[in-house]
Amino acid sequence: DSKLQLVVSHIRAFPDFPKKGIVFRDICPLLKDAAALSAVIDLFEDHVRINYQQVDLIVGLDARGFLFGPLLAQRLGVGFVLVRKKGKLPGATVAVTYDLEYGTAEAEIQEDAVAPGQKVLLIDDLLATGGTLYAACQLMRKQQAEVLGCLVVIELKELQGVDKLKPQRVFSLVQY
Ligand code: 5GP
Repeated sequence: DSKLQLVVSHIRAFPDFPKKGIVFRDICPLLKDAAALSAVIDLFEDHVRINYQQVDLIVGLDARGFLFGPLLAQRLGVGFVLVRKKGKLPGATVAVTYDLEYGTAEAEIQEDAVAPGQKVLLIDDLLATGGTLYAACQLMRKQQAEVLGCLVVIELKELQGVDKLKPQRVFSLVQY
């Protein structure tokens, strides 16, 4: 698929970032190239239209989920909701704690961001261990929204995030 080739060719690898032993997958070239960015959204849109009859909201994860989520939401004609790191959102919020490699973090949404029964798709740039998307799924469950699945540009297969997210479905464009 030529669109997929365009996407793959605009992802860079940086060894030893942010620390030694980690290969960081950099999506900045994808954003900088209009055709490559369109290809990402085209591929997501096709997947969603083929697999889901009704989607009410796209829910994006802080921070790189915010780069792709609103573009996809616009294509689908639905709204976009932010899952943020704790302390960024005004008003009444709901939070969950999740584990990082060292210590914990908290993900938060506005209490009125999603309504019970709404069908949502979660989106982020990259799936590693799945901890971040798992936390977002928990937030959706707390608010009684129905998670239809998770969308990511990149999946790091050896970290088995897909298993952590089961039974949620994960769709990725590029796998390493
Ligand atoms: P997880 O919670 O699945 O272990 O980590 C995924 C989160 O970490 C995502 O929000 C993603 O943005 C970030 N992340 C971890 N490694 C990388 C990487 O190599 N490249 C990019 N772009 N993001 C990463």
